[in-house]
Amino acid sequence: MKYIIKGLKNLVKIKKQLTQKQGILLSRMLGNYFFAFLKISENVPLPLEFQIEPSAVCNLRCQACSFKDSKKTDNSFLSKENFIKLIGEMAFIKTINFTGIGESLLNKNLSGLIKIAKNKKIQTLLITNGQLLNKKTVEDLLKSGLDKISISVESGKVDYYEKIRMGAKFEILKNNIILLEKAIKKNNSNLQVIINAMLLPETLKDISHLVKLIDLASLCKVNLITMQFPHNIHDFGIQNYFGKDKEKLRKTFNILKHYGEEKKIAVNFPSVNYKKGQCYYPWIYPQITSSGELLPAV
Ligand code: SF4
Repeated sequence: MKYIIKGLKNLVKIKKQLTQKQGILLSRMLGNYFFAFLKISENVPLPLEFQIEPSAVCNLRCQACSFKDSKKTDNSFLSKENFIKLIGEMAFIKTINFTGIGESLLNKNLSGLIKIAKNKKIQTLLITNGQLLNKKTVEDLLKSGLDKISISVESGKVDYYEKIRMGAKFEILKNNIILLEKAIKKNNSNLQVIINAMLLPETLKDISHLVKLIDLASLCKVNLITMQFPHNIHDFGIQNYFGKDKEKLRKTFNILKHYGEEKKIAVNFPSVNYKKGQCYYPWIYPQITSSGELLPAV
């Protein structure tokens, strides 16, 4: 409970530093929190999966990221000591998703944190923008026992990717994924690589973004792509896909599914059903920031 109150106070504090749009987003998040809070009863089991943030700073400034101006502080990186303390208090935890409002690979202790989790038999997933993967980081990740790595890429079109992921280079991304897949093969590792695409208005309007994404996966020998909608669909102006344009969306998904099959790549799509005000994240997928606050969700 004390972590929930601390997290809530933190949200209210950062609200003052936000733009109007970010403030609205945060208010929605608080709304979800309140909604979830009312429904918590003693019978609701504790979450099995947590998002834990190794780094609160990032090497990129993506257009779709609401916290692109986060600054480095003493608490920007989760330390090994705090991580051990955290998971020591959460014996019920089964999966850790290393992610947050920052790039996890910037935390020099990342592979150490993963090793600690693996020693406790916890499943681990790392979400990364992929730009900082190199020989050394890949080697460390393979040694850590990481189970899955999800690389965020919204489009296979170079110009668009570099425009929305400010600071990223498509060529670097491509070479890094190839390097990763080669290392996995060479080391006979079970690490699963996933390309994850957040669906944006432009990529839904012009299917070639996602067709080229499948081409990228094929070139890099990644055999799974997952797609998801942004949580705040109204801010991205894609709410019509859950109403009058639902059929169009289904057709798009169908074309991509078949193209993926041709290339021997599984493409997982999100549900096209959406009900306003529903958010299950606080119950099953809360987040702990690098400084130790518990948030209902990102
Ligand atoms: S890489 Fe992730 S955390 Fe960094 S700016 Fe982009 S969306 Fe935000």
